[in-house]
Amino acid sequence: MREKIDNTKNIGKKLYFFEELSSTNDWLRDNREELQNGTVALAKRQTGGKGRQGRKWCDSDGESLSFSVLLKALPAQTMPILPILAAVAVKRGIFQTLNVKADLKWPNDVLIDGKKIAGILCEAFPSENGLCVVCGIGINVMHGKDYFIQNDLPHAGSLLTQTKQKCNAEVLLDNILIALNDVINEHVSNGFSAMKDEYAAACVNIGKRVRVVSPKEERTGVACDVDLNGQLICRFDGSEKLEAVASGEVSVRGIYGYGE
Ligand code: ATP
Repeated sequence: MREKIDNTKNIGKKLYFFEELSSTNDWLRDNREELQNGTVALAKRQTGGKGRQGRKWCDSDGESLSFSVLLKALPAQTMPILPILAAVAVKRGIFQTLNVKADLKWPNDVLIDGKKIAGILCEAFPSENGLCVVCGIGINVMHGKDYFIQNDLPHAGSLLTQTKQKCNAEVLLDNILIALNDVINEHVSNGFSAMKDEYAAACVNIGKRVRVVSPKEERTGVACDVDLNGQLICRFDGSEKLEAVASGEVSVRGIYGYGE
């Protein structure tokens, strides 16, 4: 394990780099009491990378950028919307690095040209000074098409497959950490209203038919908007009223494909 300190930063002031970890989220969770707010854990290889609801996140040595951020001092109103803010930060970081506009699939998948290139998993844990949150971000940077075929990930792509650019992962990490710091500060000062248009413009689901899948049911309808809490506003088939869907347990699918 290597350590790096950058005193100019709030998020990313202390960065721990591992050759291999089971999961960067789990390492920050297990060490959360001793570590300071904004600490970043980065792993070259994760042996147990995970997505929401126990799903697996696949990453590969040297081709993925896999890191997590410990957030100990988040105001209560910012915690529930963090997955959405993190998606905006990844989008901004990619734009800053590659000059490419990524799309977002509600709540927090990052897509380029219809393929998922990044996943985000935010988890909250009790700690001595109230709840803390670990925000894990996995980005497919240098994978070729074969990787996704071999791992049965037909909806996935990498920055390389989707932009044809070889991205410098260190620069990308730096840009995402700066953007994460910015979006959190923006939310703390102004709420989501100032960022809502940016999110909505990038969200591939809005104005489209969606299938909202939860453990107990599956409903189809049209996604109309996101609200100021980051919930997806839908009009479901057979109903006139608008309903807000919270991200918790649901997955959203396009009717014709992953993000359409
Ligand atoms: P979904 O994207 O399926 O709606 P989700 O947002 O909960 O669900 P995540 O928690 O971000 O998904 O990630 C888990 C899912 O992402 C897995 O079920 C798998 O389909 C997909 N996945 C796993 N590894 C990768 C990868 N390297 N690139 C793109 N997608 C992946």
